Amino acid sequence: MADYRKMWEELGMDLETHDQLCAVLPTAFGDVYLSQENRPEGMGFWDMVVADVHGIRPAELIEAQKNGQKVFGTFCVYVPDEVIIAANGIVTGLCGGSQFWVPDGEAVLPKSTCPLIKASVGARLGKTCPFFRIADMYVGETTCDGKKKAWEILAQDVPLHIMDMPQMKRPQDMEKWANEIKDFVKVVEDFTGNKITAENLKEAIHTINEKRKGLARVYEARKAENIPISGRDALLVSQIAFFDDPKRCAMMTNKLADELEERIKNGVSVFPAGTKRIMLTGTPMAIPNWKMHQIIETSGAAVVCEETCTGTRYFENLVDETKDNLDDMIKAIADRYMGIHCACFTPNTERVQDIIRLAKEYKVDGVIDVNLKFCTLYDVEGYTVEKALKEAGIPVLGIETDYADSDAEQLKTRIQAFIELLD
Ligand code: SF4
Ligand code: SF4
Repeated sequence: MADYRKMWEELGMDLETHDQLCAVLPTAFGDVYLSQENRPEGMGFWDMVVADVHGIRPAELIEAQKNGQKVFGTFCVYVPDEVIIAANGIVTGLCGGSQFWVPDGEAVLPKSTCPLIKASVGARLGKTCPFFRIADMYVGETTCDGKKKAWEILAQDVPLHIMDMPQMKRPQDMEKWANEIKDFVKVVEDFTGNKITAENLKEAIHTINEKRKGLARVYEARKAENIPISGRDALLVSQIAFFDDPKRCAMMTNKLADELEERIKNGVSVFPAGTKRIMLTGTPMAIPNWKMHQIIETSGAAVVCEETCTGTRYFENLVDETKDNLDDMIKAIADRYMGIHCACFTPNTERVQDIIRLAKEYKVDGVIDVNLKFCTLYDVEGYTVEKALKEAGIPVLGIETDYADSDAEQLKTRIQAFIELLD
């Protein structure tokens, strides 16, 4: 990593502890990523971003703040980026994906909280992540109980706005959600000092749609018989998309997709012919959580799709770009986001339909339903998901895990046995 110590110091970070993270990340990345063969050349961009993940983008954000822009940290794919971008704000994902941050989270949260929440709170309170220091405002949501209560703790340390999510998708819930977005428009306008107009919102909708299209093209390539990109690489692209500038993300993902499409034409695959195709469903995999992909892809199978918030739930469906007045645009945004099917909704039959559809589209041999420990929502929904998959004749394995490596060997044994049983 280049030397960003002065920047980290000015951000009030705990440099000594942060050094420990900087010392382990390159090895972890090397083991999971650089050890792969025949990767697309385009992945060089993402390798470079990760090599300086706490340097390059944070420095850009600080520069933007000096020019008067505000940075909003978000934790969920329901928070509409379009509103923030329209007001010349910047969005950065803040979900914690490392075991490194969990102990600092456990200092204030019950151990029986999901690791994503513990790591996110720990990254802020432990002062070991620049993104958590840089964000001027955090935006939380009322999706799950753990998050709702964690916001109260984080709000003691940083300005935090909470979006009240509906729990159902009836007409009155859709209306409530559109009103919630209207309130968010006001919050963002007040915080940035910039008015959201039909013009800048239209442009922001287009920008985020283009980013979604770029990601969708990368995923589309994974449907091919010869798999042009590993699941690990595709996951990384998705994870970084939460942090990167949306226009650059669209540009780089489209460039990568060009290469992947060329690979498909030329019959280039990163896996030997006949490699079993796996889809993952379940809870998000925030950077640097590469655990499941690494286990699966070093056990003789390939991950070809993720039905997660760091996968299809992030980019599927576009906001309707044909609307011209502010109210209609907000309604179009509300509709698009209510098309995401998180387990926090009840009933949530659309998610099960999505999973079956995706399993067919990506021609998967089996599905691994992976849920983070102590996530009641996805754990309970796992029953319905697994039942539906079995009824559709698609083999499924349910896994519950966290960010620690302690269960890696045991998971490998179970996953290898599952892969061997696939036809
Ligand atoms: S799993 Fe649900 S709560 Fe978590 S990021 Fe996705 S939509 Fe938000
Ligand atoms: S994984 Fe589950 S418990 Fe954890 S933040 Fe997401 S919805 Fe909440």
